Amino acid sequence: MNRQIVLHSRPTGPPTAANFALVERPMPEPGDGDVLTRTLWLSLDPYMRGRMNDAKSYASPVALGEVMVGGTVGEVVASRDPRFSAGDIVLGSGGWQAYAVLPGRSLRKLDPGLAPISSALGVLGMPGMTAYVGLLDLGRPRAGETVVVSAASGAVGSVVGQIAKLKGCRAVGVAGGAEKCRYVVDTLGLDACVDHRAPGLDEALARACPNGVDVYFENVGGAVQQAVWPLLNQFARVPVCGLIAQYNDPAPRPGPSLWWVLRKRLAVSGFIVSDHPGRSEDFLRDMSAWVREGRVRYREDVIEGLERAPEAFIGLLEGRNFGKLIVRVAS
Ligand code: NDP
Repeated sequence: MNRQIVLHSRPTGPPTAANFALVERPMPEPGDGDVLTRTLWLSLDPYMRGRMNDAKSYASPVALGEVMVGGTVGEVVASRDPRFSAGDIVLGSGGWQAYAVLPGRSLRKLDPGLAPISSALGVLGMPGMTAYVGLLDLGRPRAGETVVVSAASGAVGSVVGQIAKLKGCRAVGVAGGAEKCRYVVDTLGLDACVDHRAPGLDEALARACPNGVDVYFENVGGAVQQAVWPLLNQFARVPVCGLIAQYNDPAPRPGPSLWWVLRKRLAVSGFIVSDHPGRSEDFLRDMSAWVREGRVRYREDVIEGLERAPEAFIGLLEGRNFGKLIVRVAS
């Protein structure tokens, strides 16, 4: 028999043991092209919380009664894919179960001589890759800049902080508790780490980032996010990787949420028009032509007399203007 952990019920708020059930089911049989694996390592990751909800997300929910999803390192027991044979160690998505049948094409063979096989679920796997692309491609850290990373002692955050150091940045972690913070500084080599569970988070973070924050690698959201954002420098980059502090929320928090940024991979960039003087020639050339050709139209709301400016301005803020509000001061 195969032992499996299935989703028994959906949590409201933090999950409890009652949401899971341990079941025994007949050992699965590999079909053509499949591989039967014995799970050696199962990865537990924050995204799994989202899969427990019956809500549309970037991935489908786990159905009730279905095995919980998860990355695994397993040993091949039987193979009907010529690329694998019994004894091979493979990385796949076996889920929370002792044995799994997986399509051979979804597996990657691991070489146990190269690195401990469990690291394929961490630093050499999905979390490591997340840190790598998130920091380098989205965070674009430059030497001398300050990088802040939350959940800094964890799978993703620990790698982010260390890459930031490799790139010559000041790296500041945020982690929960003195022990994690000591690890982040003493073992991982970050310049500072702020304990988000201790009082005075805002002040401690500001002290740790005397030159502000150029890259905030967002892993948690919530109170940590509230503390970091006021310290962001102009043109700072914020790779929105995760919002774990909010995963147990029973309902969305009011206001636009970074959750949308994450789930739909939105590009949200602040900008001020004066940052782009080099585009003014292009703009004038194109817009003049479009207006001349009637391809761009415009409307003006003309107020007569300077003395009416205050009232018009107040109206502007209440939506009483209709078109570009301008005051004819003299004709
Ligand atoms: P970790 O190994 O960092 O473990 C999770 C950590 O999150 C906890 O140890 C805890 O650290 C912190 N945490 C939990 N609850 C809270 C809270 N309420 N407030 C602040 N911190 C909290 O997990 P991972 O490294 O695997 O994941 C980190 C983040 O990256 C998650 O948000 C995850 O969803 C995201 N992720 C995103 C991916 C993507 O493709 N976008 C891929 C992989 C991960 P502490 O005690 O230090 O607070």
